[in-house]
Formats: sequence, structure tokens, C-alpha cells
Amino acid sequence: MIKLYNTQTHQKEEFKPVEEGKVRMYVCGPTVYNRIHIGNARTFISFDTIRRYFMYRGYEVTFVQNVTDVDDKIITKANQEGRTAAEVASEFTDAFISDMRAAGVMDPDVRPKATKEIGEMIKLVKTLIDKGHAYATEEGDVYFSVRSFPEYGKLSGRNIDEMEGGHRELRADGQGLEDRKRDPLDFALWKAAKPGEPSWGSPWGQGRPGWHIECSAMSKKYLGLPIDIHGGGADLVFPHHENEVAQSEAAYGCCFSNYWMHGGMLQVNHEKMSKSLGNFLLLNEVLERTDPVVLRMLMLQTHYRSPLDFSDERLDESAQSVARIANALKNMNWAIAHAEGEGSLIDAEGLAARAQAMKDSFIESMDDDFNTAGALGHIFTFVGDINTMCVNRAISASDALVVKAAQDTLVELLNVLGLPIQAAEDTSNYPAETVTLAAELAGYEGSDPAEAASALLDARAAARKAKDFATADKVRDGLTSLGFTIEDTPQGARVTFNG
Ligand code: AMP
Ligand code: ZN
Repeated sequence: MIKLYNTQTHQKEEFKPVEEGKVRMYVCGPTVYNRIHIGNARTFISFDTIRRYFMYRGYEVTFVQNVTDVDDKIITKANQEGRTAAEVASEFTDAFISDMRAAGVMDPDVRPKATKEIGEMIKLVKTLIDKGHAYATEEGDVYFSVRSFPEYGKLSGRNIDEMEGGHRELRADGQGLEDRKRDPLDFALWKAAKPGEPSWGSPWGQGRPGWHIECSAMSKKYLGLPIDIHGGGADLVFPHHENEVAQSEAAYGCCFSNYWMHGGMLQVNHEKMSKSLGNFLLLNEVLERTDPVVLRMLMLQTHYRSPLDFSDERLDESAQSVARIANALKNMNWAIAHAEGEGSLIDAEGLAARAQAMKDSFIESMDDDFNTAGALGHIFTFVGDINTMCVNRAISASDALVVKAAQDTLVELLNVLGLPIQAAEDTSNYPAETVTLAAELAGYEGSDPAEAASALLDARAAARKAKDFATADKVRDGLTSLGFTIEDTPQGARVTFNG
């Protein structure tokens, strides 16, 4: 039984799908006016993990994530750069998709773009006007009348009378729209076009949608009513999600989403990472120097609802955590490859029991509101066991089958978390000549072939940087002739030994 924390009821609840065996999820996507930062990525990685876990537990998941490709911020950026809003949006939509893939986040089943769904939004706005929940102004704007929906505030737990002026609407040119509203609480569903802005025809004249309306329209179009889970970062609870609830429920009657899930903020020095504070790190830049599984490991070591403080030290710790797992996988590979003879040479029964215990506890943690930190704790306990049981130890052929099954369980659980960690390379068979080569070309003074290989890679990188291609080629040729293959990755070069 999966339990999850529902923002709307402030408690953990048993998950009961609308339709047996199915999960319909909608997670608000980005506004595409720049590349996403690792704070945005945290929210998307959290929901990717939640989605993968539902799939692991046998649910058929339909996952929808919109792209907000018309918005004041996009228009402002386009104006500053002398480009069209469509050009800016298209560039950053592509960048968003490639950043998400690089981070190991699965593609959504549907990724609707706001600009392609204007007709749906206009229909919804019309319904709201017909039902007395919205009004058009002379200028061609349409507002949602907040006081016409008495339950307004129920998601965020805010009291309507304490919200005066909560929805200040600014246009791209900074001009306020306050004076056009009947009530300062009201928020824009449709904005009349200004010259130079992208616009679409509507019953209220040329204009463009407000931000909130797109999610109400697209969620209904692609997932129906009600859906199981609507998610996003905690900063979206108010006003964005509160407004979505108001629009959808006012227009369609009953329930919009049965569960509301919100992720905690990624912070730097206890402050939310955000564009406006200028304390952001772009995801693509971090991934140039960091293996995506290391970044994801960092994210998953904190519960998705808690704030997460990001730092380079934590990134280093996560790299070590990944290395421990990679090492356990390598130790298991070694044991399996060197198995020989009959009888039991390790405590095979104990090992099988520990693998099963890891899996049971993993599921227990994940069932409890997707406690990835707890789930990883169980994985590390098992990894510790492996690293004492399977180090350079001869095992029998029948034990090898048990080790293989345990390894499969470990890999299966890592994949549920989206952590496709590869076994560390076995460096025990690196040739001794690697040391001589490193002494000659990299000034290496030690005697460990694995260290020597990495010294050679460092020397090659330094030579390339200094445009000393003769030396770089010499290092490469030397390594190749010893039986190594060099692979260049975004995180630097790697060798594998084929001998
Ligand atoms: P935006 O493009 O600003 O609408 O943000 C896209 C998603 O990233 C939303 O779900 C936000 O809640 C989320 N988000 C923004 N900043 C952070 C942060 N510092 N930590 C976690 N999630 C964030
Ligand atoms: Zn949304």
C-alpha cells in the first residue's frame, strides 16, 4: 500500500487511484525563457522518481507535463534580444528537453505546449464566464472572480480576507492591470494583446492566455477529471495551484485532482535557488562536470518534501556514495567471473536473505511517501555486506548464481530510483608497464597501475588544453598500445582495459 502526503489535507493518505491499476499524473512544467537550474531539476527528478516507483509497483502511469511557451518573461527576453517570443520559447523548449534527458529524467507521455492549446483555454474561459465565475473588461481582458468561488484558499490553507492584493498582475512593459479588475484578488484568465506581443483571436478580441488557465485546460484534455496526482514545487501551491483548483472546479463542478504533491525547494546557504536571487546553477553546466547519477544521488538522499541544501561538498559525498555502489557491483562481477567448483564457500543463504531484506525494506520506505533517503539507506547496508562478503574471495559455481541474483536485485532497485550505476572498472589486471609510461609522460612517481592510468589521462587533458597535441597524442598512443581504450565523456576521459 502506497501512502503519500497530500498538500490539500495536510496528511499522509493511502493512495487510491481513480481507476484500478492506473495513475494519471500532471506535473507543471517550466516557463521556457532560459535554461533550467538545478532547483527546477530537483522537482522534476523527484516526480520522475515517483513515477518510476508507481511503475515498479505495477501501475500503468500516464504522465503529462506542459511547457509554458507564452508568458511575460518570454516576451520581455525576446524584446531585449530583438527576437520573437516564439524563437526564444523554441530554443529553450529544446534545451529543456535535452537537459532533462541528460539528467536521466524520462520523457513525459504527453508534453503539451500552451501555444498549441489556446482553443481549449478559450473554451474553458467561456465556460467560466457563462457560469458567472469570470468577467471580461472593456479592454478585452478576462478575470476570474475569486469571491465567486467560496472554497478559494482551500489548497494553500489561506483565508480569502487575508489575501487582499495577492495577485498583482504585471504586463511585460511593467504596467499594472489592477485598475481593470473588479476586485484586487481576481486574476487574469485572458490578457488583451499589446502591440508587438504574440496574440490569438478570441471572443474578447486579440489576446493571450494568463498563466494558470493552461494547466486546467491541458490536464482535463489529456487526463480527464478528476486526475490522481497534480504536482510541482512547493512555490507553486499559491497562487498557481490554488488558481488551477478554482478554475477547474468552478467550471466543471467537482474534483480536479485527488492528491496534490509538492516538492521542497533546493537551496544554497538556506536560500531558495532562483533566477531572481541570482544564486542559481544551471543544470547543463553542473552536468558538464558531474556525472548525472551523482547529482541524482545527491537529490535522492533528501526526502522530496524537505528543503535540500546544495553544495560542492555534498556533491563530493554523493560521488563517493556512487563509487561505493560501483565497487560492490565490481566485487560481485569479480566473484562471479572467478567462481569455480562445487559446494558453498560463502554464506550464500545469508546473502540471499540480505538481498531479500534489502528489497522488502526498500519497498517499505518507498511506500511511505517515497522515502528515497530511507530506501538508499537499505541499499547501502546491503552494499556494505557485499563489500565484506565478496572481496577477492573464491566462490563456488552455485554461490555465483546466488551472487548474480543478489546483484540483479540491487540493479533492479537502483533502476527504480533512476540510478543506472555501472560496476567500477576492475583495475587489478592493468599492466605494470602503465607505471613506466606514466613515469615517462606524466612525471608519475608511484607504483600503482590504476593511479598511473589516471595520471596519464590528466597529462593528456593538460596537454590538450595547452594545445600541445604532440604530447597528447603520445599519451593516447602509449595507452592504446598497452591495451587501453580511451573514451571522452562530458565529465572527462575514461580508460577501459581490454587486455
Ligand atoms: P518555473 O519555470 O519557475 O515555473 O519552475 C518550474 C518548476 O521548478 C516548478 O515546479 C517550480 O516549483 C520548481 N522550482 C523552482 N525553483 C525551485 C527550487 N529552488 N527548488 C525546487 N524546485 C524549484
Ligand atoms: Zn501548472
